[in-house]
Amino acid sequence: MLAETFLKGGAYCRPLMARDGLADALVDPTVAKIEALGGIVETGARVRSLEISGNRVAALDRADGGIVLGPRDPVIVALPPTRARDLVPGLTTPDDGEAIVNAHFRLSAPPPPFPAGAVALGVLGGAAQWIFVRDRIASITISAPGPLAQADDAALLPRLWGETRQALALPDDAHYLAGRIIKERRAVFDQSPAGVSRRPEARTPIANLLLAGDWIDTGLPATIESALRAGNRAGALARMLSA
Ligand SMILES: Cc1cc2nc3c(=O)[nH]c(=O)nc-3n(C[C@H](O)[C@H](O)[C@H](O)COP(=O)(O)OP(=O)(O)OC[C@H]3O[C@@H](n4cnc5c(N)ncnc54)[C@H](O)[C@@H]3O)c2cc1C
Repeated sequence: MLAETFLKGGAYCRPLMARDGLADALVDPTVAKIEALGGIVETGARVRSLEISGNRVAALDRADGGIVLGPRDPVIVALPPTRARDLVPGLTTPDDGEAIVNAHFRLSAPPPPFPAGAVALGVLGGAAQWIFVRDRIASITISAPGPLAQADDAALLPRLWGETRQALALPDDAHYLAGRIIKERRAVFDQSPAGVSRRPEARTPIANLLLAGDWIDTGLPATIESALRAGNRAGALARMLSA
C-alpha cells in the first residue's frame, strides 16, 4: 500500500470522496452495467450453502429456491470472510477484526466550510477521528474504537456532539436536529500479521469456485480498493473458466 501511494508521490495519495454517496458513485452504475449486460441483481437473497458435486459447485441453496449451475458456470463467493468460511469447506480466512463507530448529526444549517477547501477534518485528542460534512449532515468516524464500541449511545452522542461542535466552530449553544450512532461491530477483517497471513488467493481447490472480497490476498488493507482489486481478479479468472 505504501509502495502504491506515498512512494509514488502526492498524486497517488489523494483521498477520493463520493460526492453524493456510495450508491450514486458505485452501486447504481454497477447495477446498471450488470443489467445492461443481461445480468440480474437480487438483494436480500442469502445463500445458505453450496452444493458441491465432484470437484465443482453444482448449485447454490437459498431459502427462496436454489440456482442450478451449468457445466461451464463459475461461482464467485464475495461474502465477508467468516461468512465465506461457513459456505466453503476447508477455507482459511482472517477472523473478524475491529469495529467502526459512526455518528451522524443533522444540523439546522450547513456549517462553515473547512479551512483551505479540505474535504474532511481530522480530529486530534478527541474520541472522534474524522469529520465529514455533506450539506447539513455532519458524520463522525471512529475506526478501531476500543471500549467506545460498547459505550451507550445516549452517552456517546453528547460527547461526540461536543467535539463536533468545537471542531466545526459552531457556537457553544448550537444543537443538532437529530443524531444517530451506528456501530458496525465486524467492520474490517483482522489485519494483524496473523490475520494477514490467512488471506487466501482467489482460486480455490474447487474447480469452478473463486473468491473475492477485500480480505483476499490483494496486498491492500480492508478498503474498497482491495475489494475492487479482488473482484477484478476473480472476474478475469471467471472469464477464463467459462471460456
Ligand atoms: C463503517 C465503515 C466505514 C468504512 N469506510 C471505508 C472508507 O472510507 N474507505 C474504504 O475504502 N473502505 C471503507 N470501509 C471498508 C469497506 O466498506 C470494505 O472494504 C468493503 O465494503 C468490502 O467490500 P466487500 O465486497 O469485500 O464486502 P462487503 O461490502 O461486506 O459485501 C459482502 C456482501 O455479502 C453479503 N452476504 C453476507 N452473507 C451472505 C450470504 N450468505 N448470501 C448472500 N450474501 C451474503 C452481505 O450482505 C454484503 O452485502 C468501511 C467499512 C465500514 C463498516
